[in-house]
Amino acid sequence: VPVKAGIVLSTERMNSAPGVHKEDLYVEAQAGLVTEHLHSAVEARGLFYPPDPASQSACTIGGNIGECAGGLRGLKYGTTRHYVLGLEIVTPEGRVVRTGARTVKSVAGYDITRLMVGSEGTLGVVTSAFLKVLPLPQARRVLSFTFSDLEKASEAVSEILGSGLVPAILEIMDETTVAAVETHTGERLGEGVMLLAEFDGTGAICDADASRTREIVEGKFGGRVIGDVGGGRRETVWKARRAVLPALTRLSPTVILEDVTVPRSRLPEMAARIEKISERYALRIAVFGHAGDGNLHPTFLTDRNKHDELKRVNAGISEMMRACIDLGGTISGEHGVGLDKMPFLNLELGKAGYDIMKRLKTSLDHKGIMNPGKIFYDA
Ligand SMILES: Cc1cc2nc3c(=O)[nH]c(=O)nc-3n(C[C@H](O)[C@H](O)[C@H](O)COP(=O)(O)OP(=O)(O)OC[C@H]3O[C@@H](n4cnc5c(N)ncnc54)[C@H](O)[C@@H]3O)c2cc1C
Repeated sequence: VPVKAGIVLSTERMNSAPGVHKEDLYVEAQAGLVTEHLHSAVEARGLFYPPDPASQSACTIGGNIGECAGGLRGLKYGTTRHYVLGLEIVTPEGRVVRTGARTVKSVAGYDITRLMVGSEGTLGVVTSAFLKVLPLPQARRVLSFTFSDLEKASEAVSEILGSGLVPAILEIMDETTVAAVETHTGERLGEGVMLLAEFDGTGAICDADASRTREIVEGKFGGRVIGDVGGGRRETVWKARRAVLPALTRLSPTVILEDVTVPRSRLPEMAARIEKISERYALRIAVFGHAGDGNLHPTFLTDRNKHDELKRVNAGISEMMRACIDLGGTISGEHGVGLDKMPFLNLELGKAGYDIMKRLKTSLDHKGIMNPGKIFYDA
């Protein structure tokens, strides 16, 4: 999004087939490779690249690195930053630099790789990456649950994780979101507020984890299992989940998606605060997200032509940002700062934290040519 003129660089054609190094458990991928194409290339070799943003059929490895993309499997497997071993980058002066290594470990100096991940194109251009891969899990099983309300479902999430279970995926969707997805995809998912959990590993591990989760949810939180699937049907469920954002965009002329993230034990409080904000400002907010990561995407269903409503939306967003900081969380779990979060960055980092980031930016890009006007409100 060029807000200060300049050039827009497309990496779309930097999309060669990835080089798969099975013995060393890494792949080399070009920046324009579509994430889903990387998934299928490694899975064909019995390997697994966990980061799976719901936009995986359209987004690219360069964009995933630019944003440190998360996804559904973040709970057990982490986000993009946990898989980037090394990078090839082009600096603002046009120098080609290799960072990191192809090895599992490397402490040869500053971790420039990690600095680049999540830097939103403001420090240099990533041209290719060495990415860690894992062996493909033998078995996977999905359970879906329904609850009476969002707080009960959030409490169940805290309890599941507190009991030592680590599902690969634990997603939440409120009633509005479930209904929107069903209308959009024609798939019947369930009813009420839903939790979707996936377990992976061996068949025996999946079965044991699924039955303990079921005991917790049904025994303590009044949740009910409404689906128990494996095989091909499993992919249908996840396809429907990945369609949430397109489905919500059909409900109102404007949707504004937030990305608040709190420590998982504070999820029920965050859910309650969102509900209060929706009531206080008389706004429609659909809630879904990566509950297992404490990462919710409250989505404002609004119309940018209704100026009075938009003012209330902005007030609601400000209050939401403060609420997640109060609860020990972050203003952005996986979507970055970009333009929308610029006013709130100081709130999270404080002046000293903001200044150190600004100094890094200036020292690496002293002419300010890399994605100008993003992250820093005074850039
Ligand atoms: C329907 C939908 C679902 C989504 N679901 C998720 C989700 O589950 N999890 C999640 O984390 N995100 C999600 N996203 C957000 C988004 O798709 C991700 O952030 C994704 O990683 C962006 O990749 P992209 O290729 O589209 O990058 P772009 O949007 O094109 O770029 C993103 C940023 O990275 C920079 N960049 C891109 N390429 C490079 C490069 N080669 N070198 C340096 N900087 C670069 C850009 O300048 C920009 O700042 C979703 C988005 C949509 C529309």
